[in-house]
Amino acid sequence: FDMFVLAFVERLFRPTFRKDDFVLGKKLGEGSFGVVYKVTLANKSSSKQGDLVLKKATEYGAVEIWMNERVRRACANSCADFVYGFLERSTAKAPEYWLIWRFEGDATLADLMKSREFPYNVETLILGEVQDLPKGLERENRIIQTIIRQLLFALDGLHSTGIVHRDIKPQNIIFSEGSRTFKIIDLGAATDLRVGINYIPKEFLLDPRYAAPEQYIMSTQTPSAPSAPVATALSPVLWQLNLPDRFDIYSTGLIFLQMVFPGLRNDNSLIQFNRQLKRCDYDLVAWRKTVEPRCGADLRRGFELLDLDGGIGWELLTSMVRYKARQRLSAKAALAHPYFDKEGLLALSFMQ
Ligand code: ADP
Ligand code: MG
Repeated sequence: FDMFVLAFVERLFRPTFRKDDFVLGKKLGEGSFGVVYKVTLANKSSSKQGDLVLKKATEYGAVEIWMNERVRRACANSCADFVYGFLERSTAKAPEYWLIWRFEGDATLADLMKSREFPYNVETLILGEVQDLPKGLERENRIIQTIIRQLLFALDGLHSTGIVHRDIKPQNIIFSEGSRTFKIIDLGAATDLRVGINYIPKEFLLDPRYAAPEQYIMSTQTPSAPSAPVATALSPVLWQLNLPDRFDIYSTGLIFLQMVFPGLRNDNSLIQFNRQLKRCDYDLVAWRKTVEPRCGADLRRGFELLDLDGGIGWELLTSMVRYKARQRLSAKAALAHPYFDKEGLLALSFMQ
């Protein structure tokens, strides 16, 4: 069967929506490129759809719709469940795109990391019950390991599809209550390198707190904005040359770091950490040497956690946060890292 026919038929049978179908609820977020609301359907008979999320986006909404359509077909479990996207012409002169997802849950990873209970609050969410085990480093390590594994799994899906997210951060990771896993949201800054969508890097979209040091994820020598057929043929080669996916791996490494070190969870301390790391030429081992001798109990505990099982967590972290993209692990390679050999939370729940 032809792929295009399948995609077309799939679209035909999916519900379509118009502006008037939605009743706006609570505002969930507001960025420079759009506003996000929780919404319900006006027509009660179709409200078995459950709660939905609406993003009213500016011109970048077109790219975000394209990305979400692609993700639904290629790696649906990686991201929040996309329902529908359309151009809402009638209101303003500037185009406004409306994007609809299923409401996955109340908490992003950022929300969960703000709690003093972290990471135990995540353990409860994933396992659906309170664990009666002693709290301690081993247990925290298992929970963090499970979160990182779910994140890498979602990223591997995106990267295998040819999509680089470019804005991986705790605020863009949602806990899906339905599947009890973390999923990626906010594909507004994403690039589909196989088809050349959003190819010209909009670097101003990047969040400096989680951005890798490379300014451009594709080398500036590569041709800019290739026409679509050329891009399709060239991109796998360009991908191998530039390894643009490693940009997301760097960001994921920073999230790993923040989970391990509570002191690095707020914005200011993360910015300060980034400055320190830059001063160490992005060498985490050098950074550790400068901070460890005079560090407080908080940092020391983090290093202890990373040093468990012969320092396998530290080994993984330092394979993700590296200056050169080429030296960072891919999402797939990271998933095969011995840090994940133990079964994480699953093992924890069977231990009793
Ligand atoms: P932006 O960062 O451009 O404002 P996001 O797509 O990141 O837009 O969404 C903003 C916020 O809305 C998220 O941080 C999250 O709290 C919430 N949100 C987005 N999508 C969903 C979803 N599918 N389910 C539940 N909450 C969501
Ligand atoms: Mg966001």
